[in-house]
Amino acid sequence: MLTEIVTGISAAKQAAELVKELRDIDRSVDEATFKLKLAELTEALADTKIALSEAKIRIDELEKANSDYEAKLANSIPIGICPKCEKGKVRFESKKAVTTGRLDVYGVEKWTMACDLEGCDYSEAKIHDPAGVVPKNAKVIGR
Ligand SMILES: [Zn+2]
Repeated sequence: MLTEIVTGISAAKQAAELVKELRDIDRSVDEATFKLKLAELTEALADTKIALSEAKIRIDELEKANSDYEAKLANSIPIGICPKCEKGKVRFESKKAVTTGRLDVYGVEKWTMACDLEGCDYSEAKIHDPAGVVPKNAKVIGR
């Protein structure tokens, strides 16, 4: 991912330099050079776009992997004894991205925690907010 970002930044830098060169060209005298630089600029911008798109794809993959890992971790550690049956342990059961206010962009998920004792139907919702973007008492999630 770092490679894509570095490529994107260097292509963007090149584009910025080309814009500067374009400004300095006396267009009336040197139309050919102007057109050439314009073509180079278009290419540099396309490279920037491609590199950043690749980085974005990679970031999305990593976020997904991280979220799956966090869920797995939450699944392995019970959050406590079930308040209903007082025998089972409350564990992670499932997760769902929270799209309210595009909170999913920040990795906010609604996790359903449930009792692991067979026959007990206790479950509770928990907001997973890895970036800490949801205000403490927010009720945006429809718990
Ligand atoms: Zn229970």
